[in-house]
Amino acid sequence: MPVKNQNDVFDTIIIGAGALGLWAARQVICEGRSVCVLEKNQIGAGASGGVMGALMSHIPDGWNIKKEFQFHALDMLEEELLKLTRDSGMETGYRRCGRVMPLVHEGMKDHVESWLLGARTNWRGHYDMKYLEAGNTWFSSTSWPKSDKAPFGASHDTFAARCSPRKLVAALGTFAKLHGEVREGCAVASIVPDKNKVVLNDGTILRANEIIVANGVDAYRLLHPFMGPANEDEPLGRGVKGQAVMIEFPHDDTLPILYQDGTYIVPHEDNLMAIGATSHNVPLGELEDVPAQFDHHDMDFYRRAVKLVPIIKDAPIVEHWAGIRPRNTLKGRGADPWFETVPGHENLIALIGGFKITFGVAHRAMDVARGRIEGPRRERLSWVQ
Ligand SMILES: Cc1cc2nc3c(=O)[nH]c(=O)nc-3n(C[C@H](O)[C@H](O)[C@H](O)COP(=O)(O)OP(=O)(O)OC[C@H]3O[C@@H](n4cnc5c(N)ncnc54)[C@H](O)[C@@H]3O)c2cc1C
Repeated sequence: MPVKNQNDVFDTIIIGAGALGLWAARQVICEGRSVCVLEKNQIGAGASGGVMGALMSHIPDGWNIKKEFQFHALDMLEEELLKLTRDSGMETGYRRCGRVMPLVHEGMKDHVESWLLGARTNWRGHYDMKYLEAGNTWFSSTSWPKSDKAPFGASHDTFAARCSPRKLVAALGTFAKLHGEVREGCAVASIVPDKNKVVLNDGTILRANEIIVANGVDAYRLLHPFMGPANEDEPLGRGVKGQAVMIEFPHDDTLPILYQDGTYIVPHEDNLMAIGATSHNVPLGELEDVPAQFDHHDMDFYRRAVKLVPIIKDAPIVEHWAGIRPRNTLKGRGADPWFETVPGHENLIALIGGFKITFGVAHRAMDVARGRIEGPRRERLSWVQ
């Protein structure tokens, strides 16, 4: 694809080369339109360039539009990733591995009853959820988790999956570069949607008929003039910092994700296993002071994981990683994501994850924003109908 010069008008400019921006680029390209992705650092430099890659399903009871949307998105993801691999020539590390959630107290057994019922109805027989009795060895001989660490049993579903975040963004980035433009090291300072303008930090002006803002936690600042509350000081969202480690632990890659108490253990290919959690709020004003750097004094999530699965205790840590994900806070929205055409600006689309399931739904975000499918949009303040 020939690189356009500055005076050309793109069909679409996308700001941010994370999971949301790159899936949007794939969609625009597949629709036959020209796209330019602007990334201030490099592909996957933000929260999408981490190690976790859990593709978690929502708990299947209390069904609502949000859960319905996420069900379909996660259900079809496998096929979308196969197509991406075909088109980019790159693997994404995907496997529908399922998930085990040890119950933290006796009373949760009642909840599990309701989950099992919900799974039978709402997962349409595609996937299954079971209750695992305490005291048994559940998965191979690896004590996954150690049975006395799950004294109230656990739920096990076959719906959750995992992918490699880095492989995924690399595949999406390769596809975008093959069929569109990706400009790395290119930071956007502001946007003027009414004039179809995107202004870069160095003053360069680029033009596009459509502007998609998908730059993670930094999107709140770019979008505030167009989506912000009347009160200028009230931010649209904040950051949530999380930490993860990758360990090397021999396994045959048949194990499910383990999740308990905010900590995820995600088995990956090549004897790797990611352990992590997101927990620390970072107000927008403090983003500059809280870089996404690993804090070695903050390893509680790792200790919780080792307690649950003691057999990993001597596995070497091969990588430490920290990231900051967006979390929407605008009154009336809770933590729900924003995938929407900004009201009053028909050529401006906001794609902000704001939650922990972005990788499972990012491929459908544009369809929600354009109103093609039901999903999280601002005009519907409550999910439940
Ligand atoms: C520790 C941790 C573990 C997580 N685990 C999971 C998980 O297991 N499963 C899951 O689904 N989600 C998980 N998440 C959340 C997930 O990583 C994020 O929700 C998701 O990556 C957000 O994607 P994004 O494309 O919106 O943003 P990002 O990936 O942050 O991408 C935004 C991009 O925009 C660029 N950018 C910023 N400002 C500008 C600008 N002015 N101009 C140009 N470019 C700009 C950035 O450099 C960045 O590359 C986790 C998050 C953390 C921190």
